[in-house]
Amino acid sequence: MIEENVKKLLEEIPERNQQGEKVTLVAAIKTQTVENINRAIEAGITDIGDNHAQEFRDKNDYILPSARRHFIGHLQTNKLKYLIGKVGLYQSIDRLEIARALDEKSARAGITSQILLEVNIGSELSKSGFAPDDVDGALREIGALENLKIKGLMAMLPESDDRELLRALATRMRTLYDELNAKYGGFEYLSMGMSGDWRLCVECGSNMIRLGTAIFGARHYN
Ligand SMILES: *Cc1c(COP(=O)(O)O)cnc(C)c1O
Repeated sequence: MIEENVKKLLEEIPERNQQGEKVTLVAAIKTQTVENINRAIEAGITDIGDNHAQEFRDKNDYILPSARRHFIGHLQTNKLKYLIGKVGLYQSIDRLEIARALDEKSARAGITSQILLEVNIGSELSKSGFAPDDVDGALREIGALENLKIKGLMAMLPESDDRELLRALATRMRTLYDELNAKYGGFEYLSMGMSGDWRLCVECGSNMIRLGTAIFGARHYN
């Protein structure tokens, strides 16, 4: 099943993209077994994203090394020690405090960490991330930190059946991404799209999607 899902997704994803950009598929691995994660990688997954720092620490050594590691969950300062030097892209930088902490830890490790800034595009109280109007200011402050490199933006659309609303928000994210990239440069990734909305997101200009259910099936939390 996993193999078949990955194969179909890797075929369909490029067809949805209208910007001529390569779309990176990140497998969202929360709650999945190491065995299933490695099956997905053997089927063609090149990038994996975890939400929980401790889960990442426990599984990371057993996951095939070829896959680039992403962190996609809410980051806590005291958990950065489990991630530093092992995560290729921190997608969920949602406040200045965590950017400063990651910068400091990266400096101490003698590395540069690559990050995305998370944008709360639906202005939802339940979600973290910078308000769309605050991203420019955050980019200026975080851009000055020497041990971080900002590679773009990440967003999660609201849960909604209103496709027009979702399209409007996804398009607004792409516009914001293009405007800020024109101003500051260096962007590569707009990470937006999960199992329920990825087609719409890619059609509106996302070039990185994070899929869990579409690859592994429904999640079982214990
Ligand atoms: C779990 C998760 C996903 C994937 O969700 P699915 O709906 O299962 O595809 C994507 N992004 C983040 C940040 C997640 O936590």
